[in-house]
Amino acid sequence: MRVWVAFAFSSRQRIGVRALTCRAQHFIHGMKLFFVCFRALRSSFSAQMKPRSSIEQALEKWLAEGRRQIGELVICGGAESGFEILHYADASAAHRDLQLFNTPQAAREIARFDVAGNFRPLKSAPNLRRGWLLKLRGGDDATRELREALDFFYPAMLGTLLAHQRDALEITPLRETLRRQSGMYAVTKRISNERANELIGSFCTSRGGCLKTILWQIESGVSVTTLSREKFDPSVNQASTGEQAIPLLCAEACNLLVAEIRRALKAPRNDE
Ligand code: SF4
Repeated sequence: MRVWVAFAFSSRQRIGVRALTCRAQHFIHGMKLFFVCFRALRSSFSAQMKPRSSIEQALEKWLAEGRRQIGELVICGGAESGFEILHYADASAAHRDLQLFNTPQAAREIARFDVAGNFRPLKSAPNLRRGWLLKLRGGDDATRELREALDFFYPAMLGTLLAHQRDALEITPLRETLRRQSGMYAVTKRISNERANELIGSFCTSRGGCLKTILWQIESGVSVTTLSREKFDPSVNQASTGEQAIPLLCAEACNLLVAEIRRALKAPRNDE
């Protein structure tokens, strides 16, 4: 009898433990399922609700104003069908004759070398190669993809323009930029305003030099006089196509101009 009671008791315990284990397993399984669903819902929700950055909102506004060019690029299409970017000189070419690219990252490769295969150290120089078409996806991510591609073609230029429009862009005179130079570039501090004016006129010109609009002066009260007034006007399309453009702004002399100043100071002048 004692044996039977012990057996009955231990088998009831075993059944109870088994039932508890089973319930715990169901609970854990249920929780796992809940977290998987929660994570999936959260990522799809955040992808749909991802707010557009202020640069993307500004970009949409500039496009809505009819500014369809930037530097040497023309932007076609729209957010629904997907934006298309190409060299403005290829705007009338049949698309089948152009090499097709599909990702914003392709812009980095297109912008890297000129038509002769030389590296382009100055992305705003008017030597972007032709013969390609960058066709981006339409839909919710269209403006983001366009912004990314434009940032590869013309780094930081959209953000610079937005800061300028918000009166938050710091503009540095050339003299201040040169004052900060050290090492092998310290010599550039010695350039006279007149010589700097000459060099800027040939190095920064939109005709073969650089498509940026200059915002700085040589020093306070000393303007660059060797370039036309349009070179300093953000409303002017520096590519001279006559179309409305998103301007590329130069808020501070680039290191290529500083290097050019150094080179000029080191080289003997013909008239000396
Ligand atoms: S200083 Fe400005 S305008 Fe001149 S070449 Fe450099 S980026 Fe262009």
